[in-house]
Amino acid sequence: MHLVASEDDGAPSGDGQGPSATSVEAARAGRRAGYKVLGDVEIDLDDDPVGRIDDSVIVLLDDGENGDVRDGSPAPRFRLMVDAARTSEVAIDVVREEDGWRVGIDPMNTALAATEDLAYRATHDLLTGLANRSALLARTQIAIERSERTGLGVAVLYLDIDRFKRINDSLGHQIGDDVLVEVAARLERVSRPTDLVARLGGDEFVILCEDIHEPRDAAVIAERVLEEIQAPLMVGDDNVELAVGTSIGIAFEDRHVATADLVKRADQALLRAKEKGRGRYEFHDQEQSVDTIKRLEMERQLRAAISLDQLSLEYQPIMSTSSRLVEAVEALIRWDHPQLGRLSASEFIDVATETGLIVPIGRWVLNEACRQLARWESQAQCETSLTMHINVAGSQLLDQSFVQAVAGALKDNGIDSSRLVLEVDEAVLRASESAELDIAMARLIDYGVDFAIDHYGRGYGSVANLGRLPVPMVKIDKSFVAEIETSPQARAVMRALLDLADAYELTTIVEGVESMRQFQILELLGCGACQGYLLGAPMSPEEIVGWLKESNSDTA
Ligand code: GH3
Ligand code: MG
Repeated sequence: MHLVASEDDGAPSGDGQGPSATSVEAARAGRRAGYKVLGDVEIDLDDDPVGRIDDSVIVLLDDGENGDVRDGSPAPRFRLMVDAARTSEVAIDVVREEDGWRVGIDPMNTALAATEDLAYRATHDLLTGLANRSALLARTQIAIERSERTGLGVAVLYLDIDRFKRINDSLGHQIGDDVLVEVAARLERVSRPTDLVARLGGDEFVILCEDIHEPRDAAVIAERVLEEIQAPLMVGDDNVELAVGTSIGIAFEDRHVATADLVKRADQALLRAKEKGRGRYEFHDQEQSVDTIKRLEMERQLRAAISLDQLSLEYQPIMSTSSRLVEAVEALIRWDHPQLGRLSASEFIDVATETGLIVPIGRWVLNEACRQLARWESQAQCETSLTMHINVAGSQLLDQSFVQAVAGALKDNGIDSSRLVLEVDEAVLRASESAELDIAMARLIDYGVDFAIDHYGRGYGSVANLGRLPVPMVKIDKSFVAEIETSPQARAVMRALLDLADAYELTTIVEGVESMRQFQILELLGCGACQGYLLGAPMSPEEIVGWLKESNSDTA
């Protein structure tokens, strides 16, 4: 019994026992130059696998529901699984001849040519040319070991095409294969050169990503993959347009885990993504899922917040201790979130900083605060000429156009530069040995703008910095105020901080003053100005005008 031919000449078998003899003849007749007979093999179509050659097994791809060799439907498809895990496979022809079965392979098929190369065969999926499971596991192990050294995380994205069986069933396995090859190409395209894309068999793929800082990075890749796979795909000679979707399970780890564990976890997460309706991704670690999705959603919404007019500023008074007049206000950003209501800066500033959105948002704050100052002035609503404090992030200062933006905002609104104070978190100044930061600050100082070190002392701000930086003002963190009424030590620390600032001839503002007693102690200790609920909470521009009139006239 002999050779079955390939599927393209594989007309349905006449006797329902196997492909027809004509296909055999065609193969023999040399339509396939170099056609290679692997040998005569025992085949039992009712068994799984249907046969064996050495360590490899032969499987009948069609499962009997469609394209089954026994029911006369077109083109039976066999695969030679070349490793025990059945991950590396080769398309083969299995042909019934009079005295038995014969197996052959077609070297014209690129996948088959690769079978000549054992090393390639052991590490690659022959349909798509991607890495196979064993290559993936080996690389994951290396990635995990590397991650221990770099301290960065590893993410495994485990994909399974949604409803892939339908494609096979309705359009046939050949089209199914084409889809797999196209999916593989898209995954390669969407991943970074350092990522590894693997096919684990069937419609399952994995992307292994190294140097991942946080779950969010993995989610961003997953979103790109979902988008890329969704794009319509043309298959077959008739260019049928197909829409393919996928579900993704993600395992992210920045501690040591066993290799298989990471892949297994991603697979478990994939199950959840399927259960939750497909076409989506899920993290293995549910907390990562919730956090990351929340964060990404927030990022998307924050991106739109400026144009949707959802940002606003509130102003909190800063009162001079000696004159008891409100001489300055600090602009504090608020975001009217469509679902979560009014959010204060602390609830979204991390997202803004991490995503770089802080730069446009900071720009908006700068312009809006200056505009407001000008509005108050033009309406003669403020008797004293207020100084405006705004908060700026390190990345804003490093933004090349920031100095120009400050100059523009002041000029456009006719505000003198001495009336703007930029508050920079102590952590930014402490962490930075950056010459660029120093240069940016120096240019702004030249321009006449003042800086204040915000939250001074919170990170045990180094005394050395006070001398190094050309900053005329410190805002002492509110954590130092809380206990000055009751604790002599807390008072001593506060005194030391104020004395230190004094030694460097810095103006001082103490944040978080909530009681009259605290205010009196600070006054005695020689604090320059105070800010806190005792003096006034952050208020809308309209509220603060009325409040200022009242407060400053009370004092007068
Ligand atoms: P789900 O959304 O749950 O993932 O459904 P599904 O239809 O995609 O089913 P599942 O992932 O469980 O099965 C994948 C199918 O892929 C099973 C098998 O018929 C088919 N398949 C496996 N290997 C190949 C291959 O090499 N080529 C083709 N064309 N199909 C394959
Ligand atoms: Mg599937």
